[in-house]
Amino acid sequence: MARYTDSVCRQCRREGCKLFLKGERCYSAKCAFTKRATPPGQHGQARQRKQSNYGIQLREKQKVRRMYGVLESQFRKYYEMASNMHGVTGDNLLGLCERRLDNVCYRLAFGASRAQARQLVAHGHITVDGKKVDIPSYIVKPGQVISVRNSSRDMECFKALREQGADGKMPKWLTLDAENLKGTVVAMPQRDDIDVIIEEHLIVEFYSR
Ligand code: SF4
Repeated sequence: MARYTDSVCRQCRREGCKLFLKGERCYSAKCAFTKRATPPGQHGQARQRKQSNYGIQLREKQKVRRMYGVLESQFRKYYEMASNMHGVTGDNLLGLCERRLDNVCYRLAFGASRAQARQLVAHGHITVDGKKVDIPSYIVKPGQVISVRNSSRDMECFKALREQGADGKMPKWLTLDAENLKGTVVAMPQRDDIDVIIEEHLIVEFYSR
């Protein structure tokens, strides 16, 4: 599968906001965006030209795609699914991204970043309703239970979570039993559960051109 191999911090600088792609580092003074918030590249510091409507819509789409680590083809599929669902297309689109299994593991604090959570899923450390699921794009539903496999519970990356519990950033649509490394999807995610400023209507306008 295609994979982004360049520095991920460049993506934050390109999009002009923190996308929180590197776990703890994103909250520290080492964050590349905190140090230098200009776009990457030789002319990044030059005065920016006024963006066209297309450019503004494109950047918003790229921001969300990069935040969730989704490739273009998959993201377009989400848009098509979202536009065929009841409700507001933009909200549906973000809801689908939120319900990806790798994102749910990140929200449950199983991984420090979405990339780490994705790796945990792909390496078979996660179960859904007791069955191993190693597909990061798997979409969870309310009522499902997401757990760390019994054989993986002693891994170093889960130690702090088991001992100290979650840090209080848990969204309302998930509950966590930290000691047993088990999370439950109690509702569908709502728009205000997404903590980055996104104008999703711009993404809808981008795809419906
Ligand atoms: Fe973005 Fe995190 Fe890198 Fe900061 S440390 S630029 S928030 S990925």
